[in-house]
Amino acid sequence: MPERHPELDAIVIGAGQAGPSLAARCAREGLKTVLIERGPLGGTCVNNGCVPTKTWVASARAAQVARRAAEWGVVVDAPVRVDMAAVRARKDKIIAASHQSLAAWLGSTPNLAVVQGQARFTGPRTLQVGDTEYTAPRIFLNVGGAPLRPAMPGLGEVHALDNRGILELDHLPGHLVVIGGSYIGLEFAQIFRRFGSQVTVCEMGPRIIGREDEEVSAEVQRVLEREGIVIRANAQCLSVAREGADGVRVHTSCESGEPDVSGSHLLLAVGRTPNTAGLGLDAAGIATDVRGFVTVDEQLRSTSAAGVWALGDCNGRGAFTHTSYNDFEIVAANLFDDDPRRVSDRIPVYALFTDPPLARIGMSENEVRASGKSALVARMPMTRVGRAREAGETQGFMKVLVDAQTQRILGATMLGMNADEVIHGLLDVMAAGVPYTTIRRTVHIHPTVSELVPTLLEGLKPLT
Ligand SMILES: Cc1cc2nc3c(=O)[nH]c(=O)nc-3n(C[C@H](O)[C@H](O)[C@H](O)COP(=O)(O)OP(=O)(O)OC[C@H]3O[C@@H](n4cnc5c(N)ncnc54)[C@H](O)[C@@H]3O)c2cc1C
Repeated sequence: MPERHPELDAIVIGAGQAGPSLAARCAREGLKTVLIERGPLGGTCVNNGCVPTKTWVASARAAQVARRAAEWGVVVDAPVRVDMAAVRARKDKIIAASHQSLAAWLGSTPNLAVVQGQARFTGPRTLQVGDTEYTAPRIFLNVGGAPLRPAMPGLGEVHALDNRGILELDHLPGHLVVIGGSYIGLEFAQIFRRFGSQVTVCEMGPRIIGREDEEVSAEVQRVLEREGIVIRANAQCLSVAREGADGVRVHTSCESGEPDVSGSHLLLAVGRTPNTAGLGLDAAGIATDVRGFVTVDEQLRSTSAAGVWALGDCNGRGAFTHTSYNDFEIVAANLFDDDPRRVSDRIPVYALFTDPPLARIGMSENEVRASGKSALVARMPMTRVGRAREAGETQGFMKVLVDAQTQRILGATMLGMNADEVIHGLLDVMAAGVPYTTIRRTVHIHPTVSELVPTLLEGLKPLT
């Protein structure tokens, strides 16, 4: 029989992007709270997602700038070489600092205890961790997700890396083959190409980042190909096999005669799945959809079990750190602030952290067309942006879509220098619910990329 922990007021499972803040807020409100985590604090983002990948994006950019140094009149006399052990050590140091500050913060919060272990429901609002049973009237799931492992012929015979394994490499792959031409796969593809590996990306669909507008996929592909990354789209008959002692051969095409791709390392980046399978949700009557996401309402309450909420990647309402953190804000606002925030209040936003980055807010052009809205569109290549020309960073373009009736911004895409920062000017105007003309009347700092946004908006034309 498990030992019973005294009744709690709140239990949070998962110390990812929503869990720690929510647990601390519950505790601050006077609720006796336990935060249960089976792995290191910080979840995917801190340990094998945003944080480590962005440290490597920074290392990869440093290598690329050094390689291109002569373009700016700077002499680098020796060939550029990346020390993978040092690159990894830098990443590990940054992650360790996050662990320390999270542990210090949570450890010093009154009313809050962190329990290390795997939680599993044994009944409604009852969980077991090791030999201890915990109960509380409020249970918050922030269990995140894991890499999807597809049923692909040959996968059992080869060593396939995922985002966790590849971030532990301390040597440079000779030839990295990436299966999956979406956000995670493309970031790693450019990182390793810049580190010095040969890189091939195999994408099952007809184009990479298939949810973006066609011109966006095409321009990102051009950016990557200019750096020597090989992209094989339409790789519909994917199978893998061992080659030699350590290598891998990837068969991509349904057409006979197409050459296979031989590589030294294989990265699988074909999507993610919620960590809900081993959680014993049935015992607590917590419903999921067919993909395993906990079904929630607009305030992130379970649709089937009272006193249960799901936040972050496990609810299928977002797959980003900022959406997970916003889920915390929504739950806390409803529970403690008498503020009826809803998940549908947020504007979809995300970035692909290639260099240059791709930033997206609101609707894509394809989505606007499908909505049947009467809209205006404006485009501008980055070659028109003075600051980009001065920096020698003119790849990409900017595009904005505006509702022709209301003059509100419907969405924007920016692929170019500092796009991940610049786009927030448009996002804030969308969130404020004011017309795009607000930006046209604003004086921006010269010389910046943002300075060209009013000019971009002057070019709005009907979307035909
Ligand atoms: C390679 C990569 C790069 C990414 N880059 C970005 C980026 O640049 N920007 C961005 O916004 N997003 C990025 N993401 C996505 C981002 O990491 C996730 O959306 C975010 O971490 C989700 O947070 P979460 O709070 O939902 O869950 P997680 O951060 O995954 O945390 C869930 C936690 O729950 C714990 N847990 C699970 N089950 C149990 C259990 N039964 N008992 C106890 N503990 C349990 C896990 O150990 C984990 O710590 C990236 C993801 C990857 C894989």
